[in-house]
Amino acid sequence: MKIGVLTSGGDAPGMNAAIRAVVRTGDFYGHEVYGIKDGYRGLVDNDMVLLDHKSVSGMLSRGGTFLGTTRLPEFLQLETRKKAAKNLKDRGIEALITIGGDGTYRGAMDLSQLGVKCIGLPGTIDNDIAGTDYTIGFATAVETIVDAIDKLRDTSSSHQRVSIIEVMGRRCGDLAVHAGICGGAEFIITPENPVNKETMIKTIKHYKDEGRRHAIIVVTEKIFNVHELADEISNLSGFSSRATVLGYIQRGGSPCPDDRILASRMGEYAIELINDGIYGVCVGVRDNRMVYLPFANIVNQFRPKSQLYSLVKKVS
Ligand code: ADP
Repeated sequence: MKIGVLTSGGDAPGMNAAIRAVVRTGDFYGHEVYGIKDGYRGLVDNDMVLLDHKSVSGMLSRGGTFLGTTRLPEFLQLETRKKAAKNLKDRGIEALITIGGDGTYRGAMDLSQLGVKCIGLPGTIDNDIAGTDYTIGFATAVETIVDAIDKLRDTSSSHQRVSIIEVMGRRCGDLAVHAGICGGAEFIITPENPVNKETMIKTIKHYKDEGRRHAIIVVTEKIFNVHELADEISNLSGFSSRATVLGYIQRGGSPCPDDRILASRMGEYAIELINDGIYGVCVGVRDNRMVYLPFANIVNQFRPKSQLYSLVKKVS
């Protein structure tokens, strides 16, 4: 059988490891696997290459995605998707594995309606996909953020500062809550866990009066203007405060062991689903077991609030 694989939307560490597992497992079963360049753009422009065992050697540890990724707004138009489906049909590619986030899943669901047999793998650092405990790239991004918090704490403590660290995850605060707990943050602010700014500043002032030397605030993007928040804290709490926006640093780097394992398991499982004739679904990990659910149950959904929030107040 001929199978296509693509990465789309925001890149995430471990996408290459997932492609590698798809190619190697496909090879194991005698399938031909085609790599589609730059996400849905490669489907529409017919930009695809045959991948073999050797073409993915060295990919397990490499960050980003060697197939490339783009955002293609034209894919929302039916005519564009029909062209993509025709290109696949003309090449005899029957099944397509798409690795990406919620938008990528929406594209795959729409493509499924044109007869393409699609399977989705959750590749995004944000951990914002329903139906899976973890997404490929999340664990590595948490490590990167924790490393940044540890470094910022050293300098905050030396200068008696409040450090504000803005992280990604506007649809899901898991990056902030996981990294905040690992980094010993005093405040973790996410869409699911908002704070009253005035109360927080009063608490910080109280910390100063108690003689504490620093505090760490981890906040999800798009909640505050973090530089203005730093100015307010500096003016009102007695501490000086600085904000650091981590930005795209969070997306890069070699995947950590947990992401390499998750990506390898998910890539292998996608081929097993194809072998079993199961399509129109996305793969997840639940209680450390591989699962699949129809796209329709997953797209536009939000993950339940993490149980870790109950820790935040007690251990910070
Ligand atoms: P992510 O997959 O990381 O959530 P995006 O939201 O940017 O990233 O989506 C990736 C791509 O998926 C988009 O650029 C577009 O090509 C395609 N896509 C997103 N939403 C839809 C949709 N409703 N219908 C068809 N294609 C979509």
